[in-house]
Amino acid sequence: MTITPLMPVYPRSGVRPVRGEGAYLIDESGQRYLDFASGIAVNILGHGHPHLTKAIAEQAATLMHVSNLYGSPQGEALAQRLVDNSFADTVFFTNSGAEAVECAIKTARRFHFANGHPERQNLITFKNAFHGRTLGTISATDQPKMRDGFEPLLPGFDYAPFDDLEAARALVDEHTAGFLVEPIQGEGGIRAASVEFLKGLREICDEHGLMLVLDEVQCGVARTGKLYAHEHYGITPDIMATAKGIGGGFPLGACLATEEAAKGMVFGTHGSTYGGNPLAMAAGQAVLDVILAPGFMEQVTATGDRLRAGLEQMMPNHDQLFESVRGKGLMLGIKLKTDSRAFVAHARDNHGLLTVAAGENVVRVLPPLNIEEHHIAEFIEKLSAAAASYEIPA
Ligand SMILES: *Cc1c(COP(=O)(O)O)cnc(C)c1O
Repeated sequence: MTITPLMPVYPRSGVRPVRGEGAYLIDESGQRYLDFASGIAVNILGHGHPHLTKAIAEQAATLMHVSNLYGSPQGEALAQRLVDNSFADTVFFTNSGAEAVECAIKTARRFHFANGHPERQNLITFKNAFHGRTLGTISATDQPKMRDGFEPLLPGFDYAPFDDLEAARALVDEHTAGFLVEPIQGEGGIRAASVEFLKGLREICDEHGLMLVLDEVQCGVARTGKLYAHEHYGITPDIMATAKGIGGGFPLGACLATEEAAKGMVFGTHGSTYGGNPLAMAAGQAVLDVILAPGFMEQVTATGDRLRAGLEQMMPNHDQLFESVRGKGLMLGIKLKTDSRAFVAHARDNHGLLTVAAGENVVRVLPPLNIEEHHIAEFIEKLSAAAASYEIPA
């Protein structure tokens, strides 16, 4: 037998964390790592945040799980809070990002079904998008590395180049249900949509009665200095998937929708055994307590500006490696002139610095949102040292 008990679908690194403290991970051997990956934008309050861990511990002891067959004071309260702080009128809770996107896709199709247009089934999605690993969400991306060998995929998706409004418009026909798009592509390489693009998609939707579905699983939940990234664009979606940071490390996702968009989602149309259970709701509330406190978003923006300024100052010292920095708030991408995966591994293994590789040779910088000045200084120092000691592969 050569297969590992953990199905070997991840090329796991040698780092084996067993403990976390704020912005640091500590591995089996006691080695500390500065964690500017945050479990891929998940641990937005860092590791072991006292308010979050206390809320989870207390709720676990009180009531962990009940079925959605019963009334949910915990779910109602968190849904209300998300509604009060967004475009949405209603929320479906999930356990992951992909499930939140699945719910969003179903809600969009079902809207047209309820509206007497069952033929409007297709969502237009975008090149290099990432929406998750379920059969539905891999069908919603054009990336062969996620799709090969899993056919037959789900019909009902058309693909346009990202940030190309005219190409998206040209794909609209009588079978189109709407657009599914990340305002800032994460896995694709921290590519922010232009304002004209997202505003243009909104206009096309308004003109043709289509659903604008945003995937904010990575860019949402204060990551960019706003609760949701679309707030930077002066538009609102009809439907939105959110997850990653929303539970601060506890598995939680949500599909948010306006009342109109959710008109098809009536009794019996959707469900989840665990989705929205009291333990998850406690985690979600604790995260919101922190990030909705006065000044938190401003702090994320200010920290993001300082981090970016530090990067922009340091990068010219290593201009054989670094090309540019992009992104918003604390969702930053450093574009390299060479493969980013090898450099991310070098910084991790030789300088104790955790970042995440993404498409287009980008190093993703996704620290906890509550980092302090000294973390920024340590990050710049470690990254600079990693660049200095890096031999670019021929
Ligand atoms: C991570 C991610 C997902 C999938 O989330 P899972 O929790 O892994 O299912 C979907 N969309 C985007 C934009 C993501 O970054």
